Amino acid sequence: MNGPAMRWVYVNIAATRIQSYLSRTPDLKGVRGASAWLGDTSCRDSSAAWVAAASGTGDGDVEINAEAGQADGVFPLRFPSCGDATADHRRAAATANAAQTAIRRQLPAVPLAAGWATGSSYVEAYPDGLAAEDALPVSPPVDEIPFLQSCATCRADPAVTDIDLHERQVRVCADCAARYTDRYRQPGLRQATVPVSAETRLLHALDVDETHTARHFDALAALGAADGNRNHVASVYIDGNNLGRLFEAAATSGDTELKARLSEKVSAATRGALIDATRTVWPRPDDRGDQTAVPVIPHLVGGDDVLVSVVADRAWLFTTAYLHSFRGRMQKVTDLPAAATTSASAAIVFAHSKHPFRRSVDLAAELLTRAKREHCGRQPAIAWLDVTRDGDQPVPERRSWTLEHAATLDPAMRALSALPAAARAEWGRLCDPDRPQISAARLRRHGRRLERSDVVEPLLEHGGPAAVAAALSLARWWS
Ligand SMILES: [Zn+2]
Repeated sequence: MNGPAMRWVYVNIAATRIQSYLSRTPDLKGVRGASAWLGDTSCRDSSAAWVAAASGTGDGDVEINAEAGQADGVFPLRFPSCGDATADHRRAAATANAAQTAIRRQLPAVPLAAGWATGSSYVEAYPDGLAAEDALPVSPPVDEIPFLQSCATCRADPAVTDIDLHERQVRVCADCAARYTDRYRQPGLRQATVPVSAETRLLHALDVDETHTARHFDALAALGAADGNRNHVASVYIDGNNLGRLFEAAATSGDTELKARLSEKVSAATRGALIDATRTVWPRPDDRGDQTAVPVIPHLVGGDDVLVSVVADRAWLFTTAYLHSFRGRMQKVTDLPAAATTSASAAIVFAHSKHPFRRSVDLAAELLTRAKREHCGRQPAIAWLDVTRDGDQPVPERRSWTLEHAATLDPAMRALSALPAAARAEWGRLCDPDRPQISAARLRRHGRRLERSDVVEPLLEHGGPAAVAAALSLARWWS
């Protein structure tokens, strides 16, 4: 067909502060429920309730915007522009409103943002990534019920209904009711949304089904090595470095399709790295023994964002494997704009399986921001905290390690992790970040006396007593 290129109105609705929203419920089942509702929304068939609701506002010509790529928690729509900006805007607002109402019917408390832009392609409409050209008003979450009793699960909203949870009746808010109901697991839900969560996709890639999952955080922790306590899990938060700059370079390259191609490749690298890293920490079928559950649970997989829970003693190995794989996959992308290096950074929070998941996720987000700042996003870096050992706040003097640091310090870390806990505690007592010189001298002397200079010297050289303290926090989880 010839004639002028067709123009579209692109309407994006997206869950905001999604990590914090997912972790509203303290247990894994509730997190999984929300993940399933928000997972890979752009892949769902057009009979999804939110698409139908949005379409009802016009001539039935609203559709899922397949140009938007895949990201959990993003609801991309489009419809043909009528050529009049005011009319387009009015219709975009009505479309966003109808879709939001339908999404909120499933997850009443989800924080949403919406925006719209016009163009002959999605890249033209959104040259700078997802930032909306024009934000649309978002209705606040429905809250008309008088506050009588708070939800027994999340404590964030009023309780409105009873559900059967862990074999007892509890009063929960509407959002938790949606998370805990088993409806989301049933594929018969054609008129609503089909559950295609990040976890389901990972299980399919590993060629196993839902019977190979840990059912709660305690069960995930129990997958730890037999000689450990088997009661710790790690929350791992990973995000790409400098991808904003990469997309900007692509948008100004003159190649109109480049940005769309890159965003697809970033998404593919993210998913591929998640599978590679999970394979690294899960034994092959013949060697699994009683390890039948996958030790990795993805909660959220965005474009370059990943939030997973991993059994504590394999979290470091998982994270380094992920960062290596992601960087390797991006290095194979041949049409990156010149001088672009693409990698990802990560934060790991080790905690007892009963520690509030929400707190771990918030800490991981804070640590990740620091890790990226410390290395200007130029290198893959990992920040970490062991809540049980270090406390519930970031350690001020601790710096994140790049993959290269981790490789250099590996012999020292192996030696350190092989020491008995009591010997490590003794090293710990000699670390005093407030008096670095005195502390370093004591650590050196102690190292010489035990003939373990091979352990202490590389760490002191790397970052003084603070690096020794950091290494001691990680030694238990080194692999
Ligand atoms: Zn609730």
